[in-house]
Amino acid sequence: MGILFPLRAGRLTRHRAVPSSEALSWRPAVNDRDSDSTRVSDLAHLIHPLHDAAAQATARVWVEGRAAVLIDADGREYIDALSGLWNVHVGHGRRELADAAARQMERLAYTPNYAGGSNLPAVALADRLARLVYPNIEAFYFTSGGAEANETAFKTARFFWKVAGRPEKTTIIARHLGYHGTTLATMSATGMDWYWPMFEPRVPGFVHIESPYPFWFETARRDVTAGVAAADLLDEAIEREGPETVAAFIAEPVQGSGGVIVPPDDYFPRVREICDRHDVLLIADEVITGFGRTGRWFGLEHWGIEPDILTFAKGITSGYISLGGMGVNRRLAESIRGGAGKTKWMHAYTYSGHPTACAVALANLDLIEREQLVERAAVLGRRFLAALCQLDVLPHVGETRGLGLMAAVELVESKQPKNRFDPAAGTGARVVAEMARRGVVTRVLGDVILLAPPFVATDEQIDRIAGVIGESIRAVLGRG
Ligand code: PLP
Repeated sequence: MGILFPLRAGRLTRHRAVPSSEALSWRPAVNDRDSDSTRVSDLAHLIHPLHDAAAQATARVWVEGRAAVLIDADGREYIDALSGLWNVHVGHGRRELADAAARQMERLAYTPNYAGGSNLPAVALADRLARLVYPNIEAFYFTSGGAEANETAFKTARFFWKVAGRPEKTTIIARHLGYHGTTLATMSATGMDWYWPMFEPRVPGFVHIESPYPFWFETARRDVTAGVAAADLLDEAIEREGPETVAAFIAEPVQGSGGVIVPPDDYFPRVREICDRHDVLLIADEVITGFGRTGRWFGLEHWGIEPDILTFAKGITSGYISLGGMGVNRRLAESIRGGAGKTKWMHAYTYSGHPTACAVALANLDLIEREQLVERAAVLGRRFLAALCQLDVLPHVGETRGLGLMAAVELVESKQPKNRFDPAAGTGARVVAEMARRGVVTRVLGDVILLAPPFVATDEQIDRIAGVIGESIRAVLGRG
């Protein structure tokens, strides 16, 4: 059978099978430092998440990372102000994690975790998480990432209600601007409607309510706070759908990709109360907020409540290897454990409980604990927010906000009245391009600059990010 083998720089071709010694002499087809030929091969053969050929033509080719710094193929250095994709908590280039992977790979890289088998790192990780996450969450299923974790949560919520003799409870309520992944079901939960049109029809049974977005949220109610009014939208949606049909509500404690939306303090306690009143499971999507990003191990700890289902990914391995998962409370764990015959939990992924991924996660948790990085995220986050708040005086900075080491700067055309820029102007993208020119890379949602530096960033790097944002806003929008 033919294998893929590089013939010459930048080109892969189907080739005859080669002897193993020849195969071992394989070298990367593209030179580490040859960004132009890499981009040519990239455009020809690689499909990217949110693929955009125009963006790809000028893509930066990353070749190295050290702590909070990324280096591209042209030798330029940048501060990584989003920790990769909100996930590289412990910073780039950590030898300890590479060693943990190598040790486990040499011993046992992979074995299935299907019922009837088990492995040491997966058990150790589940055991450790049971002591680390919310006290009521006691059993864990591992996945390869966040979307698989949320898929698992939706299916498990439905499973639970079927076992409980309430099979009509299937609807999942989510929020506008929530991001839960892009598989068909998680895309249907994701509340950013521009992800939908080209993949319609969506999976039925997903309903969206407004987010508790303090900067834009408006309510006609005068009897309650904005947090309670936003939470009550859940109550109304459950009543509208019929409580007997609603399985679960999914929410990120702090909405990340949707714009780092930090809810008012009274929002989640009220949400918990509403879920309890209607027998609706609360799924906390902590794919971004988990493992210290908000300055606490898990996001809902800020408001003293616990979810029924927790989903996580990203920070559990600091992005060094793919791993995500779902944690469930005792009631749900027992319904899964009790399943048999026709009520068996027929859910499975080849890579669930992957020994190497779990070994890396354990080493990552060691690092986070040993270096007290959750505490550091809290301290550094306060410094970051204080520096960002200095930008509030700029005429086009509508709001700076954050919690721990996730933050955002929201740009507006005018503050009073609050008006957004015309999206066609691409203001946010232009500011982020200016930031990159000044050595800071991150992502933007419309005109909201998203920020989540590694927990190991230095004070100077944190201050530099804030300074560069200010310079870049002035470069694009002037001072007036
Ligand atoms: N949930 C949240 C809150 C996320 O931010 C993401 C990804 O950014 C996901 C789920 C999906 O995770 P993945 O891309 O690993 O499937």
